[in-house]
Amino acid sequence: MRTADAVIVGGGPAGSTCAWKLLDAGLDVLVLDKATFPRTKLCAGWVTPEALRDLELDPGDYPHSFMTFEALRLHFKFLSIAPRTRQHSIRRFEFDDFLLQRAGAEVVEHKVKSVREEGGDYVIDDAFRCRYLVGAAGTACPVYRNLFHDSNPRASGLQIATLEQEFAYDWQDPTCHLWFFDGGLPGYAWYVPKANGHINIGLGGIAYRLKAQGGHLRDYWRQFTAKLGKRGLVRCDDYRPTGYSYYLRGDVDTVKIGNAYLVGDAAGLATRDMGEGIGPAVASGLLAARSIVDEAEYSLAGIGDFSDLLGRSTAGEKIRRWMLR
Ligand SMILES: Cc1cc2nc3c(=O)[nH]c(=O)nc-3n(C[C@H](O)[C@H](O)[C@H](O)COP(=O)(O)OP(=O)(O)OC[C@H]3O[C@@H](n4cnc5c(N)ncnc54)[C@H](O)[C@@H]3O)c2cc1C
Repeated sequence: MRTADAVIVGGGPAGSTCAWKLLDAGLDVLVLDKATFPRTKLCAGWVTPEALRDLELDPGDYPHSFMTFEALRLHFKFLSIAPRTRQHSIRRFEFDDFLLQRAGAEVVEHKVKSVREEGGDYVIDDAFRCRYLVGAAGTACPVYRNLFHDSNPRASGLQIATLEQEFAYDWQDPTCHLWFFDGGLPGYAWYVPKANGHINIGLGGIAYRLKAQGGHLRDYWRQFTAKLGKRGLVRCDDYRPTGYSYYLRGDVDTVKIGNAYLVGDAAGLATRDMGEGIGPAVASGLLAARSIVDEAEYSLAGIGDFSDLLGRSTAGEKIRRWMLR
């Protein structure tokens, strides 16, 4: 059996950030991920300056696709505004691999199924043993499933469903566009250009509201891509979108039991208004590492429920009110 001080299940931004700081503090860390990196992660790839700051990442030092937007174009039915806000786009295929490599932890390709406590340690699939266990494997995290499910049930009202596609595309409009509640969608759709000729388009909505409407994301996708074509933003005859579901931030009560921790999507930390999950994943990874190193409390109180993106704008307030209905 392989033993380590800490085993982190999942090598996304939450897991790699936690690994990075634990290694810095001199712990023996093992990251288990079911995927071979670089791996595809469905995500629009919008990343905030705050997340980069937490990652101590200077855009000038980042060697992959990176774009900065000084404003975003937000569309509401008949209204279109462009609040000034500095935001960035990356490609998760590159970004997550970069962060994991930078962390410097040993990474083992392994799909975790079972986790149990034994004599104050954690045993994973009878193959790995550790004192500290970090669940960073996203929505279907086996650490959540095995140890936290009963004390921290997910609120089905906060589940969002998404459809998206990232592909090579010679985009002409370098603006990041967001369409809110378009055609009745209980959420928003996005057009996020990426450096080096890629684009990410997609949409997401609150799952139970979609169900209550009898609406299907694929129908919204058809309407949305038709709109992109009509506006001359994206023209494509063969879209192949992929779906994924995750949870927005609710009352995340229990994120530490003994020496087991939950971080990122495994804890359900994406912001309530925008579904922004990279920043909260990074911030929670840092906090969990600090708690392990200092043997201190682990609290997510400092991680906001809402994105800073919309600031105190009227549009921001409107979206927040809608999401909190
Ligand atoms: C369509 C879409 C668009 C989004 N757009 C944005 C955006 O633009 N900006 C933003 O901030 N957030 C966005 N999000 C949210 C964001 O992607 C997530 O919140 C973020 O990736 C969470 O990071 P994480 O490290 O917790 O989990 P992940 O990045 O999901 O990493 C989890 C890792 O765990 C591994 N894993 C899973 N199961 C197992 C297992 N059993 N054993 C071992 N390994 C396992 C996976 O392979 C993966 O590498 C979006 C989400 C979706 C679905």
